[in-house]
Amino acid sequence: MSNNINGKVIVITGASSGLGECTARTLSAKGAIVVLGARRIDRLEKLVHDIESGGGRALAVATDVTDKSQVENLMKAAVDKFGRIDVLLNNAGLMQQSMLESLKVNEWDNMIDINIKGTLYGIAAVLPVMKEQKFGHIINVSSIAGHKVTPAGVIYCATKHAVRVISEGLRSEVKPYNLRTTIISPGAVDTELTNHITEEGVAGQIKQFYDEHALPPSSFASAVEFAITQPENIDINEILFRPTSQE
Ligand code: NDP
Repeated sequence: MSNNINGKVIVITGASSGLGECTARTLSAKGAIVVLGARRIDRLEKLVHDIESGGGRALAVATDVTDKSQVENLMKAAVDKFGRIDVLLNNAGLMQQSMLESLKVNEWDNMIDINIKGTLYGIAAVLPVMKEQKFGHIINVSSIAGHKVTPAGVIYCATKHAVRVISEGLRSEVKPYNLRTTIISPGAVDTELTNHITEEGVAGQIKQFYDEHALPPSSFASAVEFAITQPENIDINEILFRPTSQE
């Protein structure tokens, strides 16, 4: 298997905006075949159209990562059409920050379902494929929030800590199958992520910080590209980056 991106089949969840979309555009421009999952199929189809217009190859599959069967269907679509999966970028995520005492329990559920269970469903659906192939790379998206706990960020931080724990555990188990696992932990990056915060004071503070400090999504795409392009005997365990001005 080549170490380069060219010709690799890369499944990306949460590809309809932000980090996932930018990474799909970046990697497909370098020759990757990208299989795109998210709920907003109109956005995915526009992305496929853009990629194909530039001579690339892409497939859109409507996917809600909280539904195990839809995630299985995403991986099956990739294998049926392109014959294998070289990389899974488990990227779909939701951030709804609020103080615990506000008791926004439905939002806690949403984050647990998307960030933790969605990541696990991705692993569950791709692992049998990669074990049989005896190659593959699973990249899970955590966060600076996976390294610390902030007021109003408790549940989001908990989900991103969980992603790191799951990824570390996965690495220790998949060595016999020649699989690589990487955690990408970004700080503030300019995407739609902050749009889902419903607690007004918290939303205002976070949006102001993002307006002043957030990095472009290309910073994330570069990190993914770095992990993927390493020689097959190098497993980049984690890439942690943030704006220079972020604590
Ligand atoms: P966006 O809000 O722009 O993108 C989130 C993506 O996740 C969208 O494509 C959305 O697609 C998808 N998504 C959400 N819920 C579901 C679901 N149930 N099923 C399938 N897809 C879903 O934010 P980002 O691009 O910033 O977020 C990407 C990842 O990066 C997340 O895991 C986030 O936690 C992480 N991250 C982001 C940081 C930042 O500062 N931007 C910092 C650290 C980590 P759709 O709604 O169409 O389903």
